Amino acid sequence: MSRAKAVIRTSLANALKLAEAQVDELGRLDALAGDGDHGTTVVRGLRAANETVASSTAAAAGQCLVQAGSAFSDAAGGAAGALYGMFLATVGTQLGAGPFGAANVAKALRAGYETVARLGKAQPGDKTLLDTLSPFLDALDEQVAAGATMIAAWSAALPAAEVGAERTREMVARRGRSARLGERSLGHRDPGAVSMHIMLRAVGDALEAQEPAAWPGAPAE
Ligand code: ADP
Ligand code: MG
Repeated sequence: MSRAKAVIRTSLANALKLAEAQVDELGRLDALAGDGDHGTTVVRGLRAANETVASSTAAAAGQCLVQAGSAFSDAAGGAAGALYGMFLATVGTQLGAGPFGAANVAKALRAGYETVARLGKAQPGDKTLLDTLSPFLDALDEQVAAGATMIAAWSAALPAAEVGAERTREMVARRGRSARLGERSLGHRDPGAVSMHIMLRAVGDALEAQEPAAWPGAPAE
């Protein structure tokens, strides 16, 4: 199996473990201003995505992610199911058969971000998963511009994702189900912002589990 596929599989496996460990907390956060299903939605989506990549015979690693995305959205349902599904599918389409160097990966993630923002008609500050993804991608771009390797860039950008998720406490939801209750969302982190942090941490852990030598700054594969 290619390194890129191994990273994708390990990332999805890590994400499932982390999401299962926080399923109640994600549900609690969603129940404060939404319908309380975010934990179970994400776990259901990740289980399906894991099953799909385990049996995938796709030649290109990016294609595995496309398959993971459609399995995620079919199984998860809801707003987050559709948005995470489209995110994974867009990143996978952009990545295709590589190369999987840091610059290309950052570009593909940016394309995923744009798709989610366009479909959800949301922007940073609306108290959504974009409030985690946007500062993470800005930090990742900075790392890439400075010539960091994939793994170094990712781990240096992760704190920005955590800060982004924390900042949603001070925001009032303007998109999704919780927007209907407006002010009730104030004072609590957005569940999608927290689950996005989980996803990004899962990838960071997967990159670290690979031999460092497998991720040179130059395009790998
Ligand atoms: P549902 O709202 O269908 O119950 P979930 O509870 O699984 O879906 O997911 C809710 C999360 O989805 C929110 O916390 C938010 O982060 C994200 N979300 C909802 N609507 C949007 C949107 N239009 N754009 C971006 N993210 C959104
Ligand atoms: Mg919900």
